[in-house]
Amino acid sequence: MTFLINALAFLLSFLLMEAVAWLTHKYVMHGLLWFLHDDHHYKDHFGFWEKNDFFFLIFALPGILLMLLGSLHHFDVRFWMGTGIAVYGMAYFFVHDLFIHQRLPVLKQTNNIYLRAVRKAHKMHHKHLGKEDGECFGMLWVPMKYFKEAKASKKS
Ligand SMILES: [Zn+2]
Ligand SMILES: [Zn+2]
Repeated sequence: MTFLINALAFLLSFLLMEAVAWLTHKYVMHGLLWFLHDDHHYKDHFGFWEKNDFFFLIFALPGILLMLLGSLHHFDVRFWMGTGIAVYGMAYFFVHDLFIHQRLPVLKQTNNIYLRAVRKAHKMHHKHLGKEDGECFGMLWVPMKYFKEAKASKKS
């Protein structure tokens, strides 16, 4: 039973983070904290780091806190909630920063439909250079039309 609850806590936390990321991106990063996110929308920024990277620190905090608390209490459900948040953060970093923005050259020529769709959707987000009128604020959840596009353009 405990295993089931922990597994569910992990999964729900991971899934919930996509909703949290979407909401935060749309209403906070493109709102009050735009000054931390704006350099991610400019074409030319120098160096490897962006102000936008601060959000990784902000999002990492609840995950670390929950894992710490849980680990002090026989790795209870809080530990697995924290792990779900942390794994989402890693997935976000891999897909968004490494794969889509190629901060390291990974999977550049991929033919995978999901990866192509996720990249196209986020490129649509970056078509907008300003704070207002954005689209595709989510990350791992991809609107169906990009799947269809990716499927249609897939090289066989
Ligand atoms: Zn944005
Ligand atoms: Zn981006």
